[in-house]
Amino acid sequence: MSIEPQTLMLSALQHYAYCPRQFALIHVEQAWADNRFTAEGTILHERVDSGIAEQRKGTRYERGVMLKSERFKLTGKMDLLEIEQSEQPKYLPVEYKRGKPKIEDWDRVQVCAQALCLEEMRDTSVTEGAIWYWEVRRRETIQIDDALRAATIAAIEAAHAILATGKTPPPTDDVKRCRACSLVDLCEPGIFRRDHSSDYVDAIFLEPEEAMGK
Ligand code: SF4
Repeated sequence: MSIEPQTLMLSALQHYAYCPRQFALIHVEQAWADNRFTAEGTILHERVDSGIAEQRKGTRYERGVMLKSERFKLTGKMDLLEIEQSEQPKYLPVEYKRGKPKIEDWDRVQVCAQALCLEEMRDTSVTEGAIWYWEVRRRETIQIDDALRAATIAAIEAAHAILATGKTPPPTDDVKRCRACSLVDLCEPGIFRRDHSSDYVDAIFLEPEEAMGK
């Protein structure tokens, strides 16, 4: 009997893209801790999530839109959907973030996943999205191109694999991310890394047969 994959929250993809261990701690082990960054993010989303639609000139603005993808087993809510109305409406997902633009893809992956849901739900093609960064009051346009789609689909599949196995991966090698992570006290990445390196040192001094498990 095949087991149906669990549905993945869109917001969880950002956790996966930031650190697979963070994703597993939150979505498998159900651990959560707020810090200043996450608390500010929650307040920001409550502010923008009014659910009220607006029409300005040729564009409709829908807030707090529910999203779903059967194909990717995703569900969640988007902050804002802009629809440029014409014979072929243009859909543009907009996400609000508290910080500033990042080189890494973890915010863009979430917007791309929203685009994948929209394409499936509204039988359309989404080529652009946007992120509005609260700290710097700037809107960044995102191209939903093949590279971002591939990175997003890889993140979706890897996150589903963690949900299916229930196994929490080791800490990220990027220690800078741990400094901004609200789960650092629960995760204890330093202890894990120390234990791991002592295993490695022990293995060096084992007899060859022992090291090979014979
Ligand atoms: S503390 Fe570091 S390794 Fe642990 S979940 Fe956070 S980012 Fe990942």
